[in-house]
Amino acid sequence: MEAYAYILLGSNMGDSYRYIDAVIEKLSTLEKSKIIQQSSVIVTRPLEYTMQPDFVNTVVALLTQLPPQTLLEKLQEIELSLGRERTIPKGPRTIDCDILLYDDMVCTTPTLTLPHPQIYTRPFAAQLLLEINNDIIDPRSHKPLREVVLCHQ
Ligand code: ADP
Ligand code: MG
Repeated sequence: MEAYAYILLGSNMGDSYRYIDAVIEKLSTLEKSKIIQQSSVIVTRPLEYTMQPDFVNTVVALLTQLPPQTLLEKLQEIELSLGRERTIPKGPRTIDCDILLYDDMVCTTPTLTLPHPQIYTRPFAAQLLLEINNDIIDPRSHKPLREVVLCHQ
């Protein structure tokens, strides 16, 4: 079974572009997975904890045979290997890897929420997703994501 996972990468500490490149390098050798596409790389303002540097963000589309919880754990290993420390929630980080979508899966467990809520709350997250695939269907409403996010803006 293969699934399309869309992963949002973000960094706002150190050389953010190098951290993003380093994650993509690691994702390109991730077991049972293949990078299919990447969005553009953009600079965004921090939204919640605003007294911190701007972020560099990009979205990667991954075709994977890893189940979602395993994929999450692999992403967390990558974060740790690149010096990620969890200090201030929503605060500065060398690298953040979030699973925005995993096929049309909808779930809420203590460790994994799909779709990731930020696709509805952060316009740039949806924008980068739609740049890769403008026809993504929102797994919650079953409507085109591009219409759903317009309602949230
Ligand atoms: P942030 O909310 O800023 O991304 P973290 O990267 O520290 O903060 O993530 C906090 C927790 O969010 C993780 O431990 C993870 O279990 C959980 N989480 C829930 N849903 C997801 C998802 N879709 N992608 C990534 N992490 C998720
Ligand atoms: Mg995260």
